[in-house]
Amino acid sequence: MNPPTEPRWRQKSAGKLVYYELAFGDVAAAFATRQGGVSAEPYDSLNLSPEVGDRPESVTRNRGLLEEALGLARLTTLTQVHSDKVFRVPFEDRGVREGDGLHTAEHYIGLGVKVADCLPVYVFAQDASCVGIAHCGWRGTAACTAGKLAAEMSEYHGVPAFGLRFTTGPCICPDCYQVGAEVYEEFRLSFPDYRRFFRPATSEPEMWHLDLRAANRHLLADLGLQEVTGLELCTAENPDLFYSARRDQKTGRNLAAIAIRS
Ligand SMILES: [Zn+2]
Repeated sequence: MNPPTEPRWRQKSAGKLVYYELAFGDVAAAFATRQGGVSAEPYDSLNLSPEVGDRPESVTRNRGLLEEALGLARLTTLTQVHSDKVFRVPFEDRGVREGDGLHTAEHYIGLGVKVADCLPVYVFAQDASCVGIAHCGWRGTAACTAGKLAAEMSEYHGVPAFGLRFTTGPCICPDCYQVGAEVYEEFRLSFPDYRRFFRPATSEPEMWHLDLRAANRHLLADLGLQEVTGLELCTAENPDLFYSARRDQKTGRNLAAIAIRS
C-alpha cells in the first residue's frame, strides 16, 4: 500500500489571475497573488482591500474575479483590527464585523483575511465539516488569535482539536522582520517560552527578528492540531507576487481565503 500523499500548495491560474491553492478533501485554502487584477499603481493589480486608498470599483472587480476563480458563492471579510475577536459566519449574513478571525460550516462561503506581511492561519476539520481563518500579525499572534479560533471551532462545531488541521500562508520572514522591545515584552507576557521566536538583531541594540510562523505553529501544535505544510514564502522578498507593507508602505493587500467546496 502506498502511504497517503500529503496535500501540497500549488500555484494555479484563472485567466490572468494567479493564486495558490491547497486542496484537502472538500476544503480549499487559497492565497491570491497580486497578479491578474485591475488596480493601478501602487496597488497593482489584484488588491483586495478597500481600506488602503485604492479605487473602490477596482477592489470590487478584483473581489469578483477571485470569487469566480475559486468557485465561491461569495467571500466574507472583516474590518481587521489586530484583535483576538473571531466570528462564526452563517449562510445568510452580509454584515462586516471588526475582528481578526472567521469560521463557518456553510459551503461555498469563502472566509478571507487581507494581508501584506501578517500571517494568515487556516484551520479546518479533517472531515471538512468546518473551516476558519485568522489574521496574525505580531499583535494577533501575541493575543493567541489562531488558538482562540481553533478553540471556538472545536466548541461550536463539535470537532475535537485532534480532528482539526492547520496550514499557513506567506508572511514576512524573520530575516526581513525586525521588531522592538514593545513586541518582545508583549510576547513575554503571552508565551512561557517566547525566546524561541526571537533572534537579536546584529545591527541594532534592543531590536529582534521575530518568527511569526514559528510562534503560531507552536501555539496550534500545543493545542493538539496537526499541521499541513504551509506556503512558506516571504512577502517582503517577492515583490512580483506579494504586497508588503514593510517594503512599500503605500500598497495593496493580498487575500487569504478558505472554503468548503462540495
Ligand atoms: Zn524575508
